[in-house]
Amino acid sequence: MSIIAKLEDYLNLSQELISAMVSGNFTYRTPRKELMQKILVTGGAGFLGSYLCEALLERGETVTALDTADGEKIDHLLSNPCFRFVRGSVLDFDLIAREMKGADMVFHLAAIADPKKYVTHPLKVLEIDLVASIEIFRLAAEQKCKVIFSSTSEIYGRNPNVPWKEDDARVLGSTAVNRWCYSTGKAACEHFLYAWAREAGLRFVTYRFFNVYGPKLDDLGHGRVMPVFLKQFLNDEPVTVHGDGKQTRAFVYVDDAIQAMLLLAFDPKCEGQTFNIGTSRETTMLELAKIMKKVGNFSSEIIFQPHKEVYGESFEDIPRRVPDVSKIKKFVCWEGTTPFEEGIRKTIDFYRARKHAAVTEVAG
Ligand code: UDP
Repeated sequence: MSIIAKLEDYLNLSQELISAMVSGNFTYRTPRKELMQKILVTGGAGFLGSYLCEALLERGETVTALDTADGEKIDHLLSNPCFRFVRGSVLDFDLIAREMKGADMVFHLAAIADPKKYVTHPLKVLEIDLVASIEIFRLAAEQKCKVIFSSTSEIYGRNPNVPWKEDDARVLGSTAVNRWCYSTGKAACEHFLYAWAREAGLRFVTYRFFNVYGPKLDDLGHGRVMPVFLKQFLNDEPVTVHGDGKQTRAFVYVDDAIQAMLLLAFDPKCEGQTFNIGTSRETTMLELAKIMKKVGNFSSEIIFQPHKEVYGESFEDIPRRVPDVSKIKKFVCWEGTTPFEEGIRKTIDFYRARKHAAVTEVAG
């Protein structure tokens, strides 16, 4: 065993970091009392994952991001000696077992979370969001690794009594409607966590996210509503509000969400608990389109498009989705503070600049 490998074992630090320290090529950033932790982030090259990895590195942790994505969103982290990117799938159980070995904490974010895919690829959604998670929880329980699980506001389904508290009822449709496979998969994961905690002492925290948004969310024109609207606005095309546009969401800006994630993950009193991460500002999709139009100074017209045209028959939209955020406030004094218009402006600026850069590159 080399000295570096022995040190790695003894100090529980990565080989890369020890090599960097030995060679003097190392900047000490955040003063910390305790030893840094080895953290695995599944989905670490995705939207939330990329911000989370950056924040964990700033805290002084040693981070491995595992993702099937190309790593574009974490490109700027690759030179950090405390960071590793492993390209691979959570369905590769050998890989997961290797990467979880020695980890103190796993942030399990890898999932398919695109409503269109619940309808078109329900099997893939269940395999990635449920089957892979079960294996990760099993390994974590075996290795005494703390699990920080990314669940969803979809858990509550279409319960009409908003705002939803964490222990409110789940109101879902038939299993014949593919739309619910995501909610059911995530809820089963939450059950597994409670079961592992009860029967094997697994330490965990569950987050239920409510429409997190910000720069780098999805590719323009794909995924969640904002990048879809933005592509239409930036191309001066009609903006397609689904249905009557009265359905609501409560959006939370990514920087706020990341702050909440860190507070909850590292506070022992939050272990074994589930938290809504969101804001209580309820916005209809028609309002969202109008706010984006105003903030971005766009000129697209806003039109209405039936849900069926986009999602087919096997879909049901959630009419109102609003969290009760009193629990997270009580536990860690957190509240999303970024004003909506400011978050929207930052998001628009990011996508506008990216589109401009792409156009310039093609022209050049
Ligand atoms: N939506 C819309 N126009 C679009 C895309 C989405 O009106 O072009 C609506 C969608 O029908 C839903 C809301 O925006 O009511 C949020 O959709 P998203 O895909 O962001 O995810 P969800 O919050 O439903 O999980």
